[in-house]
Amino acid sequence: MKYFGAHVSASGGVENAPINAHNIGAQSFALFTKNQRQWAAAPLTKKSIDLFKSRCEEFGYTPKQILPHDSYLINLGHHDMEALTKSRTAFFDEMTRCEQLGLDRLNFHPGSHLNKISIEGSLDLIAESINMAHSKTSSVSAVIENTAGQGTNLGYKFEHLAYIIDKVEDKSRVGICIDTCHTFAAGYDLVTNQACEATFKELDNIVGLKYLMGMHLNDAMKPLASRVDRHQTLGDGEIGLEVFKYIAADSRFDDMPLILETPNDEIWPDEIKKLYSFTK
Ligand SMILES: [Zn+2]
Ligand SMILES: [Zn+2]
Repeated sequence: MKYFGAHVSASGGVENAPINAHNIGAQSFALFTKNQRQWAAAPLTKKSIDLFKSRCEEFGYTPKQILPHDSYLINLGHHDMEALTKSRTAFFDEMTRCEQLGLDRLNFHPGSHLNKISIEGSLDLIAESINMAHSKTSSVSAVIENTAGQGTNLGYKFEHLAYIIDKVEDKSRVGICIDTCHTFAAGYDLVTNQACEATFKELDNIVGLKYLMGMHLNDAMKPLASRVDRHQTLGDGEIGLEVFKYIAADSRFDDMPLILETPNDEIWPDEIKKLYSFTK
């Protein structure tokens, strides 16, 4: 099955996300389980958790169709111990919230070296952070997103993802999320069918597609290898529609959340319909 959806609002409570997803015809959705721009959040209430679960059941969303995203503030590769500890505590809290909601994966951006530490040094800290989170939780997978490589963000090379996974002890609880805009911005071509074939072959060789637990489907506003993270409506950017046809037609991308993070949420129902038309 292809599960196309979008990153929907959880404003007013996580229990609203499945309704918002259902209303746009999404077969999958992403959400923040707390305010993504704040460190602290009140714990999820039992009422919120129960409503979230019952609505997911009502609208037919199982865990493999849901991709929670962590806070933008978290940097699991931070060089400063105090800041790193703050991030690790927040990440553990995010993982716990996912478990409370019955979800099996948490999508996060690996981290940034901030020009204060080597790339390997920062990647080592990220892997150690994942191991620590694993030791304190029982079932959620840490899903590392590839990035555009803007600023000092890590994760823009497939090798970064492989390096982290190599140092994660419990490989059954680590995965990757590939964002098409980030991939392209990082320098991997996705414009033609042939380019897609080469890029996903490279990903499979370096990381392994068996780790793929979700995707973000976005066109890119900036050209190939720009290292700038600016999403665009499908077909209106520098990548074009070919990659989305490629993904829709390829069973390696079945049974996982395929999430739009495109800028115009008013046309998400149309973008989802368009993606489904590519499967036929
Ligand atoms: Zn993304
Ligand atoms: Zn992005």
